[in-house]
Amino acid sequence: MVHFVGAGPGAVDLITLRGERLLRTCDTVIYAGSLVNPGLLLYCREGCRVYNSAEMTLEQVISVIKDAEAGGGSTVRLHTGDPAIFGAVREQMDALDRLNIPWDVTPGVSSFSGAAASLGAEYTLPGVSQTVILSRIAGRTPVPENESLSSLASHGASLVLFLSSGQLPSVQEELLRGAYLADTPAAIVYKATWPEEKIIRCTVGTLRDAGEKNGIKKTALVLVGDFLGETYERSRLYAPDFATEYRKAAPE
Ligand code: SAH
Repeated sequence: MVHFVGAGPGAVDLITLRGERLLRTCDTVIYAGSLVNPGLLLYCREGCRVYNSAEMTLEQVISVIKDAEAGGGSTVRLHTGDPAIFGAVREQMDALDRLNIPWDVTPGVSSFSGAAASLGAEYTLPGVSQTVILSRIAGRTPVPENESLSSLASHGASLVLFLSSGQLPSVQEELLRGAYLADTPAAIVYKATWPEEKIIRCTVGTLRDAGEKNGIKKTALVLVGDFLGETYERSRLYAPDFATEYRKAAPE
């Protein structure tokens, strides 16, 4: 059995209890070495075979899994954050299906959640934005044309960019073509929840300079939107005059 496991954003205690249990008991682990905290491998039992997928192709990953499964053991495929976001998991799942190898998924805390926690931010502030866009700027992997950054930016919604911190000049340019203004708040969060985490608060107009000044090239998220600002409305849900299934509205 193959378990796809979300490792969480970095801090070793941000993996789920289920993910930790699977790591403790597996016979083989294939971890995404470019981003997964190697400290997580300390959960593995002695004798567990460890592979770093950063140095492997999809074919090599599948071949290791195939051999491990033939030996009757269990395999953990450890992905950073949550496997469902830029995890390249679907192609593995389909390859395993073709080989009749069973698999399941244990979700993880994505880095976009880790970054919000580190910033003390809420993406969905009433009166500001009720939408979070998770995306990336086109790089060596293209982005469908109707999802270009400038078109996503036209919404002015809360925006989280993965895999884009190496292209901050283009990010800034595209954002300004949309609904964001030069003084719209932004942040770069490098290695959220890792001991070496760095938080850089800036604006859309200063993104490029902020990244350059702090030497940010990778392993960072770019967050953009007025959710990082000071103004918002309080929630309806917890307003005294707002009745819910669980609470009567307070009298005037
Ligand atoms: N599945 C992962 C994302 C993998 S794509 C998740 O859910 O978080 C890899 C990109 O994610 C990196 O280039 C970076 O943009 C972002 N990333 C991953 N971990 C991060 C962290 N701890 N802090 C900031 N960005 C991170």
